[in-house]
Amino acid sequence: MSTREGITWVLAAPSGTGKTTLCRQILERDPEIKLSVSHTTRSRRPEEQDGQHYHFVDATEFDRMVRDDSFLEHAEYNDHQYGTSWAAIDAGVSKGRDMLLEIEVEGARQVRARLPKARLIFVLPPSMCELEKRLQGRGTDSDQAIRRRIDAAAREIDEITRFDYAVTNRELEACVADILAIIHAERSGDPERIETLHEKFSPKDAEERFRAQAESA
Ligand code: 5GP
Repeated sequence: MSTREGITWVLAAPSGTGKTTLCRQILERDPEIKLSVSHTTRSRRPEEQDGQHYHFVDATEFDRMVRDDSFLEHAEYNDHQYGTSWAAIDAGVSKGRDMLLEIEVEGARQVRARLPKARLIFVLPPSMCELEKRLQGRGTDSDQAIRRRIDAAAREIDEITRFDYAVTNRELEACVADILAIIHAERSGDPERIETLHEKFSPKDAEERFRAQAESA
């Protein structure tokens, strides 16, 4: 069994950026990383299983866990509570497994504060226009809901410099490869490899490019 302590990874992205698909691909291609199963108060969707996609709990149980300090982070999203329990990550990390948290940006901010050694990756959409197109293409939201998601995305992108890395999901395969390159470099512990990727995926540079492109559009 591995003796290294696993790394806690956070992947956060505005809604519509393709975060869930990216996570699925990463988990499929890298057997050393496992998904952290969150708790939520939202109802289970037909295709979901309790304990596998989420631990589905009621508000009373969720509040009890908050009071007991059972969560590394928790946040409200669309009128429901979501949280990552310490237990969800500790079991994996102590066995040398990397854990992947697919969470929204407020949760990522809390992880940064409470678990400084976690590594945070922000996924940017290619542009706001493209994000709007993707949200419209999903066909699940009203125009008003899309507007709200776009406004939320802008606020989330304002937080990008709190992250260690920023990647852009312009094309799925390339984006998965970028994220895996980051994960493997950090796992190797090789400072030169890590530094190269910090430069390549600098959140500050990504933010500047994103904003410059929005101004020129
Ligand atoms: P959904 O209800 O579609 O599964 O998830 C809604 C949002 O909640 C997504 O952005 C997802 O990444 C986020 N989310 C899922 N689990 C957690 C969690 O444990 N903590 C936080 N902060 N966000 C979560």
